Amino acid sequence: KKLGVALVGLGKYSEGELGPALEKTKLCKLAGIVTGTPEKANKWKKKYNVPDKNVYNYQTFDQIADNPDIDIVYIVLPNPMHEEYVIRAAKAGKHVICEKPMAMTVQECQAMIDACKKADRKLSIGYRLHFEPHHQNVMQIGQNKIIGDIKKIICDDGQVQSEESPWRLGRGVGGGGPVRDLGVYCTQAAIYTKGEIPVSVIAKYHPKTDVEKFKLIEEGMNFQFQFADGSTADCKVSFNEKFNKLRAEGTKGWLELDPAYEYKGIEGKTSSGKMDLPNVPQQTLQMDDFANCIISNKPTRVPGEMGMRDVGILQSIFEAAETGNKVKINVNHVMDPVG
Ligand code: NAD
Repeated sequence: KKLGVALVGLGKYSEGELGPALEKTKLCKLAGIVTGTPEKANKWKKKYNVPDKNVYNYQTFDQIADNPDIDIVYIVLPNPMHEEYVIRAAKAGKHVICEKPMAMTVQECQAMIDACKKADRKLSIGYRLHFEPHHQNVMQIGQNKIIGDIKKIICDDGQVQSEESPWRLGRGVGGGGPVRDLGVYCTQAAIYTKGEIPVSVIAKYHPKTDVEKFKLIEEGMNFQFQFADGSTADCKVSFNEKFNKLRAEGTKGWLELDPAYEYKGIEGKTSSGKMDLPNVPQQTLQMDDFANCIISNKPTRVPGEMGMRDVGILQSIFEAAETGNKVKINVNHVMDPVG
């Protein structure tokens, strides 16, 4: 029997990616939805054949505890809502996937991890790129020093942000901005390419070119991680410019993904030639991997502890930008064993 997944929050990511991805999963399937909008509930019920008894809103959400059709609750809400809903899902006795960034603060992440531990449920973060062949190749090349010692990494992730998700621009519940939204990809990529956690960070906000649109959030930021051996990762994020790249230079060669962080169309090359790797349905593989971890009682490659590590680093990046100082990074060492 396939495990049942309930999506919480039927916004752009659920509609465009996770719903369709759950039509192709082998070990799990879409079984329920949680939404505050009755029109969306009707649309999803029809499109995906979701029975009435598996449709919840934010008030009835906790009753999901009594629903044996739902094994996994997937939180796809604005970032400041992740903590509350992960904890409520764990209390309802469900395994949980939480979208990135895991939460707003390390304290919130710890409370989410504790709640899942207490309920004896698994918790994973929606880090889809850990299931993507080019990124897995980068982990292997970088961590196994195939191109020698990594001396310099470049991670650029920028997009022109529309007004579509007001919270992303800091409005309503807030919790957006390019550092939280995109900086988490750069942070992840720097760590899994080098195979180490950086020891410190310096950061500088981009000047605001559109003060109205970016009144409540940063428009962009450059930040640089320093690793223990003196090597660096230069990262750039923006909500006003498009770029999408990962490059690493080692003592014996280099690697590059461009575009690097998209849902499809990732292309890679190294100093020895083109990476001849397929593009795969990332979210399908990500959710099936989590279902497999539950079925076989194995740890997930992308656990809550990794999400908490990255939220801690995001907090250090903001501190560096606010103070202008080099800020020490003090987070747990959590690494995807793929490398
Ligand atoms: P979105 O704004 O399109 O959707 C958010 C949903 O939450 C909407 O359906 C909205 O109605 C609902 N919601 C419920 N209560 C709300 C409230 N009080 N205020 C605002 N919205 C409320 O956003 P999205 O792009 O779907 O992102 C959702 C989450 O998924 C975020 O954490 C985001 O970072 C993450 N995400 C991850 C990826 C990825 O590649 N892993 C891609 C996109 C988004």
